[in-house]
Amino acid sequence: MLNIVLFGPPGAGKGTQSERLIQKYGLTHLSTGDIFRANIKGETDLGVLAKSFMDQGSLVPDDVTINMLKNEVLKQENPKGFIFDGFPRTNAQAKALDEFLETQNTTIALMLALDVEENELKERLLKRAEFSGRPDDANPKIIQHRINVYLKETMPVKSYYENQNKFISINGLGSVDDISEKLFEALDNIK
Ligand code: AMP
Repeated sequence: MLNIVLFGPPGAGKGTQSERLIQKYGLTHLSTGDIFRANIKGETDLGVLAKSFMDQGSLVPDDVTINMLKNEVLKQENPKGFIFDGFPRTNAQAKALDEFLETQNTTIALMLALDVEENELKERLLKRAEFSGRPDDANPKIIQHRINVYLKETMPVKSYYENQNKFISINGLGSVDDISEKLFEALDNIK
């Protein structure tokens, strides 16, 4: 199995690049944000709970997120591997993911990070709000909070993978194709 973590702040292009990686490597895409939004749409208990955090731009609690992620992994039959998009977002999630993958006799091969500076992120998110319909994209205050949460709670996850020699950062500015090429190159080098 080939398991990758796609990392980066909100608006870095994780969703777009995940689609490219799925096409090329036949991996299963697991975006915790997408799964939460599907639950909100379906009005499940999980959706109701997640919405109260997501609307504020705060993280959904670790235990809830980790359990959901594990269930999603276990649902897949004979996966070739996973792209984890938007997960892990805390060190506790990263540790739980490692422990869980070990029980499945697999591991994370690489964390690929998309590096984009803050002003560009804000512009992209406000633009995305015009078609995403996401309330957390439309409000500059919520966007700022999401970026602050990223810097405080999620950035440390980078060191977690750096310490395992599994971290590669890629410039997230430029054309979608150019960035995909750089991601493919990084992945082909470890395969
Ligand atoms: P995203 O679609 O990745 O931008 O995530 C949207 C929102 O979903 C985040 O602002 C969080 O409220 C929630 N969320 C997504 N992934 C996680 C995670 N791994 N841990 C906690 N909350 C998450």
